[in-house]
Amino acid sequence: MPGSPRGGAALGGDAPREACGVFGVWGHPDAARLTYYGLYALQHRGQESAGIVASDGERVSFHRGMGLVSEVFDDERIAGLPGSIAIGHVRYSTTGASRLANAQPIVVRYRGGTLALAHNGNLVNAAALRSTLEDEGSIFQTTVDSEVIAHIVARSRRDRLEEALPEALRQVRGGYALVVMNRDTLLAARDPNGFRPLSLGRYPDGAWVVASETCAFDSTGAEFVREVQPGEMVVVDAAGLRSTQAVRPGKPALCVFEYIYFARPDSNLEGRNVHAVRKALGARLARDFPVEADIVTGVPDSSVSAASGYAEAAGIPLEMGLVKNRYIGRTFIQPSASARDFGVRLKLNALRKVIEGKRVVLVDDSIVRGTTSKRIVNLLRQAGAAEVHMRISSPPYRHPCYYGIDTSAEGELIAARMSVEEIREAVGADSLAYLSTRALHETVTGLPDWPVAERCCMACFTGHYYVPVDGARGKYALEETPPPDRAGPADGPRRAAGRGGRCRW
Ligand code: SF4
Repeated sequence: MPGSPRGGAALGGDAPREACGVFGVWGHPDAARLTYYGLYALQHRGQESAGIVASDGERVSFHRGMGLVSEVFDDERIAGLPGSIAIGHVRYSTTGASRLANAQPIVVRYRGGTLALAHNGNLVNAAALRSTLEDEGSIFQTTVDSEVIAHIVARSRRDRLEEALPEALRQVRGGYALVVMNRDTLLAARDPNGFRPLSLGRYPDGAWVVASETCAFDSTGAEFVREVQPGEMVVVDAAGLRSTQAVRPGKPALCVFEYIYFARPDSNLEGRNVHAVRKALGARLARDFPVEADIVTGVPDSSVSAASGYAEAAGIPLEMGLVKNRYIGRTFIQPSASARDFGVRLKLNALRKVIEGKRVVLVDDSIVRGTTSKRIVNLLRQAGAAEVHMRISSPPYRHPCYYGIDTSAEGELIAARMSVEEIREAVGADSLAYLSTRALHETVTGLPDWPVAERCCMACFTGHYYVPVDGARGKYALEETPPPDRAGPADGPRRAAGRGGRCRW
């Protein structure tokens, strides 16, 4: 997807962004180091902050900081997190400002001891819950929705965390993949619809691991065991692993955007490899929207799988028509509006030798605001493309997400305002086609029964929200004055690498 921190190299911010990755280990002598490696594998899910909490059974230590995993942690910091239990988090802020106080895991002390919590997702009733808790005396440390879970746990009359956590989970609504720990126990839970992914794995020495994506198991040498089921809570402690249905499961609604864009291609979701699904989406697109062309190219990196599927199904050569600069970091200064095309060229370039004189099929995974698509089409034309035919491996993106993905406001979504033909004209393509909602559902689930039965969340395409979003459509947002560490450009160097906080309890 163009414009993401991962996909199109931040080409103007024209994209939904991932909303965090979580990782947890129980029973490994170097749990923090494993978590560090696991967070590296999940870095695509969030680049704003990273944190690890570890316990040696007596003391709980943690470190969090702003920036990439490589910026926040080094050998010394990992060595300062001893123990065989650890959880970690990489964050892209969907609720609450991007600042250190909002970095996760959240760590709190309460009468039951120390509790640490890492959350991927978005709670649609967090604002109401927070307001009630504050009325009753709770003092919040952050502006993130996840903190309400910690407060509800802390107020529970249940002594054991594995009894208190389900109480909290029965009160929150929305999307969550959670890893939680105290001094001796690791817990993992998933919301009743399973919006966000969460898998369980095991190391050869018997240690247990949970992660947002299975690519983190491959990277750390763990074997995939199974997915944490919607509404399920898994508990691991000295007595072993046990599972309870913490919340009654709802309709299965894994985020379809995980397949389209968010998850890494080497991850598996619900038993299906993400690259293979993207390739199948591209192939379906080729069958449904064929076009006479000389080459197929994908917007790197996230659309390459779909482009290869399109090319294979259409019998048109797949070419590397666009080259991405992989070294544009978070601190890249966004160009002024007048110099935007220059900025795009720095991040993405068209290969003239490949493009010149060719009728090009340009495959992308989505169009959000349309600004980046227009620039990419323009790049191809300037490189001499005879024709540019855009094919999008998802339906028109018309509605915001409330379950854990940061999207533009509805008014900024180009497909909410324009017809496909108007979008084609706006981005300057010779033709434009989107995958239909039915084709997307059939390809991802292998089931032909949409819309009678929907087996994954597709609310940003259909507007059909599984969990009702109240008030301001459920977005949990607190007004706050930007703290000093956010003064200046949002991604500027002042929000410096390695700034962090560490503690031991
Ligand atoms: S609304 Fe869209 S991005 Fe959000 S969970 Fe549903 S499918 Fe995913």
